Amino acid sequence: MREETRRKEIIKLLSEVKEPISAKEIAQDLGLRAKEVKTIYNHLDHVAKSVRSNGKRLLMVPPRCKECGYVFNNMRRARQPHRCPKCKSERIEPPRFIIR
Ligand SMILES: [Zn+2]
Repeated sequence: MREETRRKEIIKLLSEVKEPISAKEIAQDLGLRAKEVKTIYNHLDHVAKSVRSNGKRLLMVPPRCKECGYVFNNMRRARQPHRCPKCKSERIEPPRFIIR
């Protein structure tokens, strides 16, 4: 049930934000530690499904390479890519999320 509560908190937060926010910002807002950021991505997969039944959508601004501007458009699941396939840079701007 703790998982359930966490997801509701994420849904509430992402429904209220004015601009899309990153998993790190979600974790900070919910008072989670930095190492728990990865669990946010797992929650977001479930969140995407559960908001759909309410006629809303979890929208994602895709990750972007800070070095060459490559945009990760073909991601099936929310995650933080580690490396740019184009220029191999590891300076990747994380995906950001909002519910509308
Ligand atoms: Zn790149």
